[in-house]
Amino acid sequence: MLIAGGGILGTFHAMEALERGFSVTQFEASAEPLSATARSPGALAFSRAAPGLELELCVDAAARWRRLAGEAGAPVRELGSLVAATDEREADQLEELCRRSDAVQRGWSLTRRAGHEPRGSLEQDVALGESVVATLHSDLDVVVETRKLLEHLRGRMQRTERYRFVGGVEIRDLGPGSFTDSTGRTHRGDLGLLCPGWRSDLAISMLRQPSVLRSVRIQVLQTGRLRATLHRPVSDVAALVHSGLGRATGMASPPPDPRLGQTTVALTCVQRRSRALTIGETRDHDEPFGFEVSQRPLQVLLERAGKLLGVDLPPVTHQWAGQVRQCTDGRLWLREDLDETMTLVGCADQRGIALAPVIAAETLDWVTEGRDSGATHPGADGAGTG
Ligand SMILES: Cc1cc2nc3c(=O)[nH]c(=O)nc-3n(C[C@H](O)[C@H](O)[C@H](O)COP(=O)(O)OP(=O)(O)OC[C@H]3O[C@@H](n4cnc5c(N)ncnc54)[C@H](O)[C@@H]3O)c2cc1C
Repeated sequence: MLIAGGGILGTFHAMEALERGFSVTQFEASAEPLSATARSPGALAFSRAAPGLELELCVDAAARWRRLAGEAGAPVRELGSLVAATDEREADQLEELCRRSDAVQRGWSLTRRAGHEPRGSLEQDVALGESVVATLHSDLDVVVETRKLLEHLRGRMQRTERYRFVGGVEIRDLGPGSFTDSTGRTHRGDLGLLCPGWRSDLAISMLRQPSVLRSVRIQVLQTGRLRATLHRPVSDVAALVHSGLGRATGMASPPPDPRLGQTTVALTCVQRRSRALTIGETRDHDEPFGFEVSQRPLQVLLERAGKLLGVDLPPVTHQWAGQVRQCTDGRLWLREDLDETMTLVGCADQRGIALAPVIAAETLDWVTEGRDSGATHPGADGAGTG
C-alpha cells in the first residue's frame, strides 16, 4: 500500500492497512506534517454529531479513541466536554437537547443553576463564570495532542518491518499502482491512497465533481498558563449550533455580532497539560483567503472565553490559522476512486480528526471488499453542509 500524506488520515490509513496485513510506505511532503492535523486543538466532540449515520460513526470512533487512550504514552485524554449556557434561552435549548432520545448515546447530563444558587454549583471542579446558568456535560468526548499523536502512532508502526515513513518527499504524479515523487523516482504498490488534506491539487483535477468541495479557513489562539483548572473542554452554545447536530436540527443561532461579518465564531477552550489555554475558533469560507491572522474575530473569541470562564485570561502567546476542505453536498467526507488502484480520501471538514479511525476502516473495507456505509454519498449528514 502506498500512502501520500502524513496527517491524521494518512496515518490512520497506514495503521489500518498494517492491521489487515499490507506492507505500507507513507510519503509526507514536509519533513514533519504541520498541516491541519497539527493545527487543531484536538477537542473531539463526538457528542455533537448529527443524528443518524454521523452519530453512529462518532460513537464507533469514540470507542476506538478510548482504546487508544488506554495505550501507554498515547496523548489522548478521556476528559469529556461541557457546553455552557449564559442565559435562560440557551439553558432552555440545552434542556431540550437533553430530552432527545439519543441523549444517552451522546453521554449527556444537564445541570441547571437556579437564580439563588452560588457560583460553582454547576460543576464543582471546573472554573466557570457567574454568567453561566447551565451546563451540558458529555462523557463521550476526548482531547488529543495532535502533533504528539502523529509521532506516537508512527513510532508504534515503525516497530513492524512492514512500515516505512518517508518524510520530505512530495508525490507529484500518479499512475496505475504507482506514485512518482519530486525527485522523479517511481514507487510501485498494489494499491495507493491519497490523503493530502487541504493541498489536494494532485488529485483534484481527476475528481468527477470538484465543484462540491470548498475550503474553510479556521483561526485559533493560545494564551499563557491559566491558574484555574479546566478539567475538560468548555464550549459556548454557538459551538453546538455550528456542529453537525446544530445544523441537522436547525438550532437557533445566537444573535449576530455586527463585528463579525461573514465570519463564524464558536468557542471551545481547552487547557493543555502546561496549563496554557487553547481557544478556538473562527471560520471563513470566502476565498481567496488572506495570509494574515484577522484580529477582530479573535478578539470576539477572547471576550467570550473571558465571560464564560469568569477570569482575566492570561496574555495571548500564539495565534494561527489552518485550512480544511468540506463537501457542500452533505457527504461526511470524500472518497473517490481515481482508477482501479488509487483512491483519494479527505475533505472531512471539522470531523477529520474525530472520525479518522473510522474513515480509515471504511476505506479499507471499500478497497478490499467493496463494503460501503453510505457516509461518502451526498446527503449523508442528514442536513447538507453550508
Ligand atoms: C484550526 C483547526 C481546528 C480543527 N479542529 C478540529 C476538531 O476539533 N475536530 C476534528 O475532528 N477536526 C478538526 N479540524 C479538522 C482536522 O484538522 C482535519 O479534518 C484533519 O486534520 C485532516 O487530516 P488530513 O490528514 O486529511 O490532512 P492534513 O492534516 O492537512 O495532512 C495532510 C498531509 O499531506 C501532506 N501532503 C499533501 N500533498 C502531498 C503529496 N502530494 N505528497 C506527500 N504528502 C502530501 C501535507 O503536507 C500534509 O502534512 C480542525 C482543523 C483546523 C485547521
